[in-house]
Amino acid sequence: VSSKLPDATTSIFAVMSKLAHEEHAINLSQGYPDFPSSPELIELVNKAMKGGFNQYAPMPGIYPLREVISQKIEMLYGAKYDPESEITITAGATQAIFTIITALVQKDDEVIIFAPAYDCYDPTIRLNGGKTVEIELKAPDFRIDWQQVKDVISERTKMIIINTPHNPTGTVMAKEDMLKLQDLVRDTQIMILSDEVYEHLIYDGLEHQSIARFSGLAERSFLVASFGKTFHNTGWKMGYCAGPHALMKEFRKVHQFNVFSVNHPVQKALTDYLKQKENYLYLPGFFQAKRDLFLNAIKDSNFSFKPSSGTYFQLLDYGRISKEPDLELAKKWTRELKLASIPISPFYKQSTDNKVLRFCFAKSDETLLKGAAILNSIK
Ligand code: PMP
Ligand code: GLN
Repeated sequence: VSSKLPDATTSIFAVMSKLAHEEHAINLSQGYPDFPSSPELIELVNKAMKGGFNQYAPMPGIYPLREVISQKIEMLYGAKYDPESEITITAGATQAIFTIITALVQKDDEVIIFAPAYDCYDPTIRLNGGKTVEIELKAPDFRIDWQQVKDVISERTKMIIINTPHNPTGTVMAKEDMLKLQDLVRDTQIMILSDEVYEHLIYDGLEHQSIARFSGLAERSFLVASFGKTFHNTGWKMGYCAGPHALMKEFRKVHQFNVFSVNHPVQKALTDYLKQKENYLYLPGFFQAKRDLFLNAIKDSNFSFKPSSGTYFQLLDYGRISKEPDLELAKKWTRELKLASIPISPFYKQSTDNKVLRFCFAKSDETLLKGAAILNSIK
C-alpha cells in the first residue's frame, strides 16, 4: 500500500511495555501508575452508568463538566474560558492534539516543536501536509534557546507546540520563558498548542506556567489537559482542550467528525470529582515524595541525574556505565536485568543519543525500591 507515514514505526511506549510484559520485568517505561484510581471516582462512574448516562454526550462534552473546568482554570491561572464556546471534552490529550493540528495546519505550514518531543506531534503534523521544524533542546538542561526559535520563525510558521512540565525530560518552563514566547509571537498569526497534561505534577514549590496566565498567549493558544494523568486512570482516555472561541470553533468542526463526543458516564463522574480541589491539589506532594524515594534509593549508584522538576519521569544518565545506544541498552536491561525504561533517542527526528534513559516514578514505593535495587547493581 502507499503509506501516508512510510517511516513510522510502532510507538516506543508500546514496544517497551510489551517487552517488559514478556520479560516479566519491572516496568518503569510507559507512563502510567501501577496503583489504583480513586475508589470514590470509580463509584461515581458506576453511579452515572446505573443512573442511565449511557447514550451520546453532547458533542463538546456535558456542560457541567465544562463549567467546573472553566472555574478550575480561572482559580488556578486567572483566565476566563467560556464553558459554552471555549472548552471541549476529548478522548484524552492525544485526540485533542490530533484534532487541533488537523483543524488548523495546512499544506506546507511549518510547526515548531522542541525535541526530545512527545511522539504524536510530528506524525500528526505530517499527516496534515505540514512541515515539522524541530529545535533540539541540549542535555543536560534541556532549556529552550529563544534566539534559536526567533531564527527559525518564518512566514510559513503556523504553530508552535510547547509542553510544560516536559515529557520526557522533567523540565518546566519558567515565567521568563513564557514572556519571551509572548514577545516572539506578538504581531504574528502564530498559534500555540500548549500541552499541559502534567500541570499538577510539579515539584520543589515551582509554579506551573500555564499559557492561560499570559493574555498575549492565551488569545492564540489551545490548552490541552489529560484526566488520565491527573486522576491515575490513563486507560479511560479522557481530557480536554480550552481555547478562544474562534479557535475552538475550528476545533469542533473536526472534533465532531473524528469522535463526535466522548464517554458520557465518565464525564458525569469527573464533574463531581473535579469540584473537590483537594482531589488534585495533593498531587505535587504525593509525586514529589515518590521522586525523592526513588532518587534517594539510587543516590550511590553510578547514574548521574538532575531531579525531575515536573511530570512523573526521571532521566538517568548512564554515560559512566555504558557507551551503548540508548534503545539497545533499554531493551538489553529489560531482558537481562528485568527493568524496563524508555530510551530518549526516539523523541528526536535526528536520533540524537544523549545516553539517558527515562524512568517512570508513578509506581508503588515497593516497585520503585525494587527498580532502584536493580539500578544500584549496575556498575
Ligand atoms: N502529551 C504528553 C506530553 C504526554 O505525556 C501524554 C501521555 N499521557 C499525552 C500527551 C497523551 O495523553 P492522553 O493519554 O490523555 O491521550
Ligand atoms: N504518555 C505516556 C508516556 O510518556 C505514554 C502514552 C502512550 O503510551 N501513548 O509514557
